[in-house]
Amino acid sequence: MAIIVEPQVKNYINGKFEINNQDIMDIVSPLDGSIISNLPLSTYQDVDIAVKSAIKAFPSWSSKTLKERVQIFFRYRVLLEENIDELTKLIQLENGKTYAEAKAEIEKGIELCEFAVSMPQIIVNEIQEVSRGVECKIERKPLGVVASITPFNFPNMVPHWTMPNAIVLGNTMIMKPSELVPLSVTRMAELLKEAGLPDGVFNIVNGGKEVVEAICDHPDIEAVSFVGSTKVAKIVYKRATSNLKRCVALGGAKNHLIVLPDANPEMTANNVVASMAGCAGQRCMAASVMVGVDKVQHIIDKMVEEGKKMVPGENLGAIISAEAKLRIEKYITEAEKNGAKILLDGRDATVKGKEGGYYVGPTIIDQVTADMSVAREEIFGPVISIIRAKNIEEAIEIENGSEYGNAAAVFTQSGGLAKQVIEKASAGMIGVNIGVPVPREPFSFGGWNESKFGIGDITGRSSIEFWTQNKKTTTKWNPQAQTNWMS
Ligand code: NAD
Repeated sequence: MAIIVEPQVKNYINGKFEINNQDIMDIVSPLDGSIISNLPLSTYQDVDIAVKSAIKAFPSWSSKTLKERVQIFFRYRVLLEENIDELTKLIQLENGKTYAEAKAEIEKGIELCEFAVSMPQIIVNEIQEVSRGVECKIERKPLGVVASITPFNFPNMVPHWTMPNAIVLGNTMIMKPSELVPLSVTRMAELLKEAGLPDGVFNIVNGGKEVVEAICDHPDIEAVSFVGSTKVAKIVYKRATSNLKRCVALGGAKNHLIVLPDANPEMTANNVVASMAGCAGQRCMAASVMVGVDKVQHIIDKMVEEGKKMVPGENLGAIISAEAKLRIEKYITEAEKNGAKILLDGRDATVKGKEGGYYVGPTIIDQVTADMSVAREEIFGPVISIIRAKNIEEAIEIENGSEYGNAAAVFTQSGGLAKQVIEKASAGMIGVNIGVPVPREPFSFGGWNESKFGIGDITGRSSIEFWTQNKKTTTKWNPQAQTNWMS
């Protein structure tokens, strides 16, 4: 199925696509460097218009029952399935992923909707007779207008981390997608409307920094969720909370995989390479450092074999921009200059017929030391740095030395050694013989340390806390009952 891209991406306010701003920015496809559309660089004024539409929609939307609200998402989930090919191709075009990777995003989005529609089964309000004849009840109530700010690397899935749960729980929402990949969210709005979502419940404001700052400052936005780099997560968390909003801000990552000598060589090599090169390494769950404990050369040799099977433009997607490609290649060159050994070199990759696209091949760097920038900083490309460790204690110490804490994994056949890593690793999501340990619904997603700011996780049960507030009612209907306080 061919996909149609409008010449201009528009904001989505009160159920209509509209443009209020003259400043625009080109949207470039990383697949071949071609300009595919442009988007408005919206301002505080545009955010204000969207907030007004969300405020107007809130009373009616929030007064529906939870069971009524989830009906929209049963229909929306079906629409995601029916349109999966088109949605997949849209992600490919704007983000540069392979078809299989892009399709997996929609499948995860569907799973996230399944969690959202299960809310009436999960949220059963608590009630108890606290004194004779006196009942206390807790209900979860929506916050009002909330916002979601998303990154470029999962144009469809990350918006689904927040949108279905926040809206099903009765909030109305302002979505600010990454300015690099706004097409998927635009299509989401159309499908939500087709599913029957009332106008004003979901709004999109396109643009960059100015929109994010407006969201953090706007007095009528109650909660802000952010996913992106640590640098911006900190800015958003500080600005939103200093304006007295609740905020959860997910940041960058530097995930360590600890490989022990008893690990299954094929499975480990396969997993490590899939983790570091899947989505061209542009995943916050990607393996970035492999800590090889003791004698693991046979596994590293297999990793190089596996890595050679990853071909840019075939089973390896594009890097988001020319600037990002340059940044990744600079890291590799710097490591080489500092004495690291490049076992597989992905620099200067090109794809025939797509010479304008941005590609980096899989890169495996050995003899990396903990002080090198490739060992410490987020590279966000298909690159893995191998640090050698004498024993598991040293490996854990290296993992603990990272300022991030999104994910960590261990590869071994020993339950006892795996447990040691599970207990000591300083990360929010741990894998045992799994390279990309993303918790599936209903388990929640979120890291530790510099990978997340704020309380709770962004999905699962944790998100119910984030998107709601408790109302406590104490009731007495039998005045004749001899009750007194604490009786
Ligand atoms: P980014 O931080 O550059 O951008 C994220 C959002 O912030 C975008 O919507 C962007 O418009 C906005 N933004 C950018 N600069 C800003 C500024 N100075 N002030 C205010 N807003 C600003 O991130 P990205 O490059 O789009 O995405 C990649 C990053 O996201 C990586 O660091 C990756 O690890 C991280 N990420 C983390 C998770 C997680 O779950 N922890 C998930 C996905 C991506």
